[in-house]
Amino acid sequence: MGCCDAPGLMPIEEALSKMLSPISPITDTLTLPIQDAIGYVLAQDLRSPIHVPPFDNSAMDGYAVRVADFSQTDRFVIAGKSFAGAPFDQHWPANSTVRIMTGAQIPEGCDAVIMQENATVEGDQVRFNQPNLKPGMNIRPTGDDICQGDTVLAQGAKLTARDIPMIATLGIATVEVYRKPKVAFFSTGDELRPLGTELEAGQIYDSNRYGIKPLIDNFGCEAIDLGIIPDCPETLKATFEQAAQQADLVITSGGVSVGEADYTKDILEQLGQIGFWKLAIKPGKPFAFGSLNSAWFCGLPGNPVSAVLTMYVLVQPLIAKLAGHTQWQAPQSIPAITHSRFKKSPGRTDYQRGIYRIENGQFVVESTGNQSSGAFRSMSLANCFVVLERERGHVEAGETVQIQLFNPTLY
Ligand code: AMP
Ligand code: MG
Repeated sequence: MGCCDAPGLMPIEEALSKMLSPISPITDTLTLPIQDAIGYVLAQDLRSPIHVPPFDNSAMDGYAVRVADFSQTDRFVIAGKSFAGAPFDQHWPANSTVRIMTGAQIPEGCDAVIMQENATVEGDQVRFNQPNLKPGMNIRPTGDDICQGDTVLAQGAKLTARDIPMIATLGIATVEVYRKPKVAFFSTGDELRPLGTELEAGQIYDSNRYGIKPLIDNFGCEAIDLGIIPDCPETLKATFEQAAQQADLVITSGGVSVGEADYTKDILEQLGQIGFWKLAIKPGKPFAFGSLNSAWFCGLPGNPVSAVLTMYVLVQPLIAKLAGHTQWQAPQSIPAITHSRFKKSPGRTDYQRGIYRIENGQFVVESTGNQSSGAFRSMSLANCFVVLERERGHVEAGETVQIQLFNPTLY
């Protein structure tokens, strides 16, 4: 994976395919209680050991009846009760009915439930006023939701808060998952200061670690924060070595643009195989990708918007592959009418930051204002990217643009 010397800028699709093709998913697994497994990727197909519901039960509070009895009588003796967890298990004579509650087992031989609002109790008897009474009415049959043996979740699914209660309905207490990818990250730059310190002339606060860490967490990885590393070859080299030992993926910000690249490049070339790319993406043009011993490496540009954007657009799919998350979906584009003008010159795919809303069933979008790659407020205000195609120039208000709503990793 030598340097990318190709003239011109590398299209995003090409960069993604070069990054993804060498990655093999992590195969180490662990067994976790289901309540601790949210955000992990399933290492097994999950099959149901039971039917859900496990027995025919009532969908209503009411009376369980046999539809055929209605040709004999319109008054029914109450033979007993079936409550949730306390089924009716006695003899049930013809022309009688069983008082039943929601979720209670349907008594043997009964084929419908009449809701209590359609019943009139007179002493120990009931009369019903139920139009269109049919067998099956208000009964939730065995296996209505899930049948024994059904695959409810496939290997490669990432477990969500919606999956866990479904797994619990099956009585499954633990699941086999892949271990999370370990991702070490650090910021590079002599100008960077940690929060809680005073800034001196020419210094700025290190904000990129605060943009990168939540994304590593939200992508479902274990984050290893190696801090701020000054532009000093010895320290950088030692940190790269330490990071590569600890992690499956090493992410840095800064030091990959022209001017600094040669310097970082020398160290990285000693330690691994890294390509320094100029991508046809704005913001985010300088980007490095390769391997450091057994770890993968992504070098993000230093500008804060560029760092988060390249994490989202390029590193997110890489992590999905590494994590074995085969069902990961790339953000989808939706057409929207823009209310703002967007400045753009042809040559790079531009991810401007926008605020969308829906007006009369139509997506409309506005710019968040200053679109400089250093102006992070444009990300903070946004709820979508306005993705302007590579060859497109300026966009005028009223034109149609493609927007990508942020996925939950940016919330
Ligand atoms: P570089 O890619 O190192 O040339 O940095 C490009 C720009 O991003 C410069 O203005 C840096 O000061 C800024 N920058 C680099 N790293 C960070 C960081 N961790 N937090 C905030 N800004 C940064
Ligand atoms: Mg720098």
